[in-house]
Amino acid sequence: RSGSEEYTFQAEVNRLMDILVNSLYSNKDVFLRELISNACDAMDKIRFLSLTDKNVLGEGDNAKLEIKISLDKEKNMLYIQDRGIGMTKVDLIKNLGTIAKSGTSAFLEQAQKGGDVNLIGQFGVGFYSVYLVSDWVEVISKHNDDKQYIWSSSADGSFTIVEDTENEALGRGTLIKIHLKPEALEYIEESKLKELVTRYSEFMNFPIYIQTLKEVDVPIEDDEEDKEEEKADGEEEEDGVDDDEDDSSDSEDEKPATRKEKQLVWDLVNDNKAIWLRKPSEVTKEEYDKFYKAVSKNFDEALTFSHFKAEGDIEFKAVLFIPSTAPFDFYDKYYDRKSTPSIKLYVRRVFISDDVAELLPKYLAFVRGIVDSDTLPLQVSREQLQQHDSLKTIKKKLVRKLLDIIKKMADDELRCKEQDEPDSEVEEGDKVSDEDCKKFASFWKQFGRAIKLGIIEDTTNRNRLAKLLRFKTSKSGDELISLDDYISNMKEGQKEIYFLGGQSEKDIASSPYVERLLKKDYEVIYFTDVLDEYVMQHMTEYDDKKFSDASKDELKMRDQDEKESKRDKALKEEFKDFTKWWKKTVGEDKVANVKVSSRLLTTPCIVVAGKYGQSANMERITKAQAF
Ligand code: ADP
Ligand code: MG
Repeated sequence: RSGSEEYTFQAEVNRLMDILVNSLYSNKDVFLRELISNACDAMDKIRFLSLTDKNVLGEGDNAKLEIKISLDKEKNMLYIQDRGIGMTKVDLIKNLGTIAKSGTSAFLEQAQKGGDVNLIGQFGVGFYSVYLVSDWVEVISKHNDDKQYIWSSSADGSFTIVEDTENEALGRGTLIKIHLKPEALEYIEESKLKELVTRYSEFMNFPIYIQTLKEVDVPIEDDEEDKEEEKADGEEEEDGVDDDEDDSSDSEDEKPATRKEKQLVWDLVNDNKAIWLRKPSEVTKEEYDKFYKAVSKNFDEALTFSHFKAEGDIEFKAVLFIPSTAPFDFYDKYYDRKSTPSIKLYVRRVFISDDVAELLPKYLAFVRGIVDSDTLPLQVSREQLQQHDSLKTIKKKLVRKLLDIIKKMADDELRCKEQDEPDSEVEEGDKVSDEDCKKFASFWKQFGRAIKLGIIEDTTNRNRLAKLLRFKTSKSGDELISLDDYISNMKEGQKEIYFLGGQSEKDIASSPYVERLLKKDYEVIYFTDVLDEYVMQHMTEYDDKKFSDASKDELKMRDQDEKESKRDKALKEEFKDFTKWWKKTVGEDKVANVKVSSRLLTTPCIVVAGKYGQSANMERITKAQAF
């Protein structure tokens, strides 16, 4: 095309496209879901803008926020058109090719390891999945602020952009022209296409039409009348009206004969009734499951979910899901992130944003779902909304609800242990199912670190979160135990909760720091996660019991008998001069103190951190900047 400009894809995008174009065996269906979801996103955006400026929608067809999908069997073409916000020339260049998103490399890594291509949408590169079924794609787009452009690429390392002088004017929105590859011709079958679109569009909040060839009844009339009819049905409505009033009254009387004819008609494939507006008792497990897959772009089932309604000053409905696995980038650069798309916020059925920082605290941003509020004002900017008081209340309620769901899983796990005991009196019918028994363990595996981050960040819920902590100890074997378990196992007279941080359980168990504690049969918590000691800095006690770091000075074991205390005192006295000499020789700038210690059994001496100093393990972690 004359006047077209050529651009090269960003290197990683190029590799991604290579993989997709050449991937023969992956499930290609996913491309439809991704393109439909992009179309809906684009319509959400224009609808949001229209809340404050009605004019952005335009008039007539332009204002109809809908998706139309059609086929051309002769040319092996598939078309997807939306009336979303569209893309300017700059948008096309940036969004479709030159800017690598954080998910690009993560997805590449996954795909090269033979991972599931289906997950592409979660990595923010869903558009490119169109190259699973095509080796030549054109994107025609019209944004209110720019002319209509054609983006085109045959996945050969580059794409072109040219002002569109050949296609019909779109008004506003995007039309994607997909030249199907020979090995993807199954999508040219109407029935297949319809089945897929129906599956992927079920929970999209815009009408989606698919053009199909249908047998319809058409009246048999003479040629003249036929033409008039067409005119009256067509776009030039005004003409039709003043044309022939007698004509129309004529045909009503006569009931003309009809014949069958194949015609292209638009079929609506989704009824776009929002699932969260329905009563939970009327929604099936299967529907929730499908809904979860739609909102999370995930392919496996959620671990657990809750559908509820908040009443009172602030009213909202919500469906929240806890995924079975953590989002790929959840723990990456955690502290650098401002917010992560998580829950979709709707105000009176209108999608507002999926990136509202105030909606969930960062540590719970792995949760997926939607919140629809009638209390929030509709005509405000996203920024104003962030500041809105109601949002804080919603956030508080969501967090409480989520912690409740998580606690329920933990409670179920506990009940499972009880019901499995030989003398258990739990009746068969009241037993927790095998599936529910295992949920908390898998939650902890995926999101245990999120809970720890929560303890650090969320002072209000710290205690609730602390109850969920699980760890191994010197006595737990392969099991994980809670702080409550620890406390109920405490020795008589024991006042503190002992812990030691280290690189592995083995390292800790054989460390001289805990020699005596273990010998005296105290239980010691093994902290092997780099986050554990950070957590301890924010939680000095639990249930009135202080935490005590075994690697620090002033480790107290309160079961010394009189004989032992006497001996310790005598030893301290005896070695007074020696310890003084030692401290001086090492240098007072190097050690704070040299003491006779009662913590050791076989090791002759040990360096410990001051009570308020950093533990050796913590120093190692900070040095490695592991987190
Ligand atoms: P994501 O949807 O996760 O952002 P995609 O690869 O699916 O990633 O899309 C990349 C970007 O391209 C989108 O964020 C959007 O800005 C733009 N885009 C894609 N499809 C459309 C469309 N139909 N209308 C407007 N913009 C679109
Ligand atoms: Mg997308």
